[in-house]
Amino acid sequence: MNVILLGPPGAGKGTQARKIVDEFDFDYISTGDMLRKEVESASRLGKIAKSYMNKGDLVPDSYIVEMIVDNLGELNARNLIDGFPRNISQAEALNEKLTENQQKIAVVLHMNVDDEELINRLSTRAVCILCQAPFKLKSPDENLIVKCNNSPNKDCIIKVRDDDNPKSVARRITVYKNETFPIVKYYKDLNVNLVDIDARGTEDEIFQEISKFIVV
Ligand SMILES: [Zn+2]
Repeated sequence: MNVILLGPPGAGKGTQARKIVDEFDFDYISTGDMLRKEVESASRLGKIAKSYMNKGDLVPDSYIVEMIVDNLGELNARNLIDGFPRNISQAEALNEKLTENQQKIAVVLHMNVDDEELINRLSTRAVCILCQAPFKLKSPDENLIVKCNNSPNKDCIIKVRDDDNPKSVARRITVYKNETFPIVKYYKDLNVNLVDIDARGTEDEIFQEISKFIVV
């Protein structure tokens, strides 16, 4: 069962992905991790990817898609794909390769949150730079650097991520709308099972909603 998690930055995809993986025993397929592993293991695709990365170029979508589909495993395996596709051409490439391998997308979970809420969430978000523990600021301009309580390590420090400043938050949301959001229509037109998830609630409420659509 291949599940795709789609949604704007700040919709809580990472949190829900962790819950799905833990609760339903899915393999977590993130392009970043996958790319790293392929390069480390010096696989055929890893070597190709490395040749692009060494030149400072992006690895072409066709190779990323090939890696994803290679990583899906058996037809009855449970895979959660997070952070891909990010645009129509990636969605098309993925679809083509899945069809070729007689694989399909069981469900696309489209997490919906309005802009105002996203901006508010992202601009009051801070994380521990070492253990990634999330932390909520009281206001967007609260510029704190505090010690995280998760470990005595002096590098466990809570900071606002560089790309969570209001300007880059707005830019990331615009990029999502222009490039990623059109995928929703693409999948609907293809009759792929795409469900809209109201992602305004608490983590547990959202997860309950998502769980209804994961039939294993
Ligand atoms: Zn920490």
